[in-house]
Amino acid sequence: MRIIVQKFGGTSVASPEVRALVVKKIIQAREQGFTPVVVVSAMGRKGDNYATDTLIDLARSAYRQIAPRELDHIMYCGEMISAVVMTGVLQSADIDAVMLTGGQAGITTDSNFNNARILKVDPQRIISHLKLGRVPVVCGFQGITADGEFTTLGRGGSDTTASALGAALDAEMIEIYTDVDGIMTADPRIVKNAKILDLISYSEVSQLAHQGAKVIHPRAVEIAMQKNIPLIVKSTFTDAPGTLITNIAREGTEESAVTDRVATGVTYLPKIAQIKIALDPASTHSDSSVIFRTMADHGISVDLINVHPGQVMFTVAEDLADRALAKLQKLGFKAEVRTDCAKVSVVGGGICEVPGVMANFVEALSENNIAILQTVDSHTSISVLVNKDDVEKAVKALHEKFGLSN
Ligand code: ADP
Ligand code: ASP
Ligand code: MG
Repeated sequence: MRIIVQKFGGTSVASPEVRALVVKKIIQAREQGFTPVVVVSAMGRKGDNYATDTLIDLARSAYRQIAPRELDHIMYCGEMISAVVMTGVLQSADIDAVMLTGGQAGITTDSNFNNARILKVDPQRIISHLKLGRVPVVCGFQGITADGEFTTLGRGGSDTTASALGAALDAEMIEIYTDVDGIMTADPRIVKNAKILDLISYSEVSQLAHQGAKVIHPRAVEIAMQKNIPLIVKSTFTDAPGTLITNIAREGTEESAVTDRVATGVTYLPKIAQIKIALDPASTHSDSSVIFRTMADHGISVDLINVHPGQVMFTVAEDLADRALAKLQKLGFKAEVRTDCAKVSVVGGGICEVPGVMANFVEALSENNIAILQTVDSHTSISVLVNKDDVEKAVKALHEKFGLSN
């Protein structure tokens, strides 16, 4: 069997008209000799009846602090509804289809509700259906713990389901169908002239995804990379070829075209808070250990870390800022929090080798009067913390400055 996993995101299953396009994509795959395994997300986006955000809002209208376990149960409903509807549409087109929950599809996770990690995938049930000529329609985003608790894989996690099934089934490829023609140099909702990237390496796209490009979940990229299964991000709505994510060096295709570029894309992560702690310069070292250990012990991830004599600065997700502050104050630290920040990043494999990248970066922002609150760089990215009101301006300016608009 030449297995292909075809994952359809929320907007791709939102109406009868688009669901008809999904049927076409599944038929096309079969005509090309593939055996498809379909994964679906909840239907539509925020505001639509059965979208994940709508279900979360409903649960939180009952109780703002509703427990993560119960939240997972309501989020489960979104993908269940979508999979039943999509299975019905396929059956009405005379295609033998069967819906499966994440657990029925063999996905076992840990019990970290709302952001569970896949521990094991047992694809036997899917394989049995495939042998009978059926199209399994699997609820994305879902897992089950060893003792039967329902879990979800983190927002955007249907991509992870697709990759995990692809890896367990030794799929020939994994297609991620969405509402854009592929992975672009920036979010097209912000940069109108962003361009499609035809080919991109797993590591580049993983960086883009970690830095906020929500077109694909970073975990999905990492799982596909481990097994070297090509991932293709493409549109349900057009016949555009999409973006091929692969191990470029091993494939040996168009290597120079990809590695020659300094910057691959510009991304942003909203809802970040900056925490600044003033310290006695003589004790910065030992105090820093206590600070970072405290954050770790309370499950608070830190980013954009700067440690100087007399000061420690880092960022946390905005919704964790109050908790982080309370923990620090309890230990007697003088900490300040600045909310309403965002991290804007330029990502690219060539960034560390080219002189003048930082100069261009800072120039782009200063030419647009954008205040830099903090910076950090790695060998494949440069990031800056800005006020949330400056995000769009910063993304556009950097996209232009790094020649991605041409
Ligand atoms: P789906 O429901 O299909 O999974 P998502 O909303 O999760 O769709 O992801 C698709 C969206 O990602 C696009 O509509 C686009 O606005 C956004 N996006 C952000 N960054 C990028 C990027 N670099 N390239 C393409 N799309 C991006
Ligand atoms: N429906 C889930 C979400 O909105 C999973 C997904 O769409 O990938 O996060
Ligand atoms: Mg998505």
